[in-house]
Amino acid sequence: MENLNLFTSTQDVIQEALSKLGFNNEMYELLKEPLRILTVRMPIRMDDGTIKVFTGYRSQHNDAVGPTKGGVRFHPEVNEDEVKALSMWMTIKCGIVDLPYGGGKGGIVCDPRTMSMGEIERLSRGYVRAISQIVGPTKDIPAPDVYTNSQIMAWMMDEYSSLRENDSPGFITGKPIVLGGSEGRDKATAQGVTICIEEAAKKKGFDLKGARVVIQGFGNAGSFLAKFLHDEGAKVIGISDAYGALHDPNGLDIDYLLDRRDSFGTVTTLFENTITNKELLELDCDILVPAAISNQITSENASNIRASIVVEAANGPTTAEATKILTERGILLVPDVLASSGGVTVSYFEWVQNNQGYYWTEDEVNEKLRKKLVDAFNNVYTTAETRKLNMRLAAYMVGLRNAAEASKFRGWI
Ligand code: GLU
Repeated sequence: MENLNLFTSTQDVIQEALSKLGFNNEMYELLKEPLRILTVRMPIRMDDGTIKVFTGYRSQHNDAVGPTKGGVRFHPEVNEDEVKALSMWMTIKCGIVDLPYGGGKGGIVCDPRTMSMGEIERLSRGYVRAISQIVGPTKDIPAPDVYTNSQIMAWMMDEYSSLRENDSPGFITGKPIVLGGSEGRDKATAQGVTICIEEAAKKKGFDLKGARVVIQGFGNAGSFLAKFLHDEGAKVIGISDAYGALHDPNGLDIDYLLDRRDSFGTVTTLFENTITNKELLELDCDILVPAAISNQITSENASNIRASIVVEAANGPTTAEATKILTERGILLVPDVLASSGGVTVSYFEWVQNNQGYYWTEDEVNEKLRKKLVDAFNNVYTTAETRKLNMRLAAYMVGLRNAAEASKFRGWI
């Protein structure tokens, strides 16, 4: 049976990567689980006067390199194993782009699509009060993730600043610009994916102009990505959201779709002729970008994928089995921990700007982001080529080295 558990399948790759790097089993024992995870229960008053008790988590995987860092997701299906796995991925992402952070992640079990702004605000503030002991600008720095945005970051920052009785912009990233957010942060994840696609296309020897692209998911990453690739002359022939998918072999009207999408990325409900998400993934194209949810490319459909490059903008969209099949078929797979590291990279820039109280232009941010991502891509690609490994294992090796070495220097192992 194929392993669809993100936590245990991540542990398997961590074990293999550490052993390839020459670390002993004690290092694996340290890194196979987060150092700490806090589970909280938050009573929140709803608009109808009733009290609802929500569950939330904050996981801190490893803080040997520096404070832990990672987003907070609001989702009805979020659970402890998922948050743990996501915090482990953050350690690896931060290592790949060489940031002075370890990995963290948070989540609240809730469905913001059915909640009012007031309810979301009270829940966001309640979460910060519940986890305030273990977070802070030099401890653990939250950020946006699935279904959280700059407004939620602003409420969280305000709550934290009130608790600490001083202005603390560096407590959280992904804030509105006027509250110390960074230029370019909202587009950073998509920008990072675009840079990875450009580098991958160079390796495969084709031009982005005219390349046929399919993007699964039209949220923050998917929608900006569609725009960037469209502007570079690529043909976006398929997109999808949670309700269906759209296909036009001549290229979709991306500007129109962007104009019509709602804040949760829903757009296909406006059309009658939609295809399924399954059909979307198997479309004939050059570049396939899963930018939605996990376990989308599995042993069942990996042999039907027709793209020559698969770039994972979502977390965990391809199973271990499917990774093997795609690699054997000569498809260049750019793994999530590399492809989606643009967001946390600009979050780091935001935190640096908050700490120094001096702000950069969007061009400066983008230039620094490009340098980080091009170096990271080529580092992972060269590791994969020279050691004859798949790109995911190579990315884990590059990404875990800092945390493992720092843990060793600190005398933990
Ligand atoms: N949630 C994003 C991620 O998973 C961003 C994290 C951050 O900016 O700290 O990479």
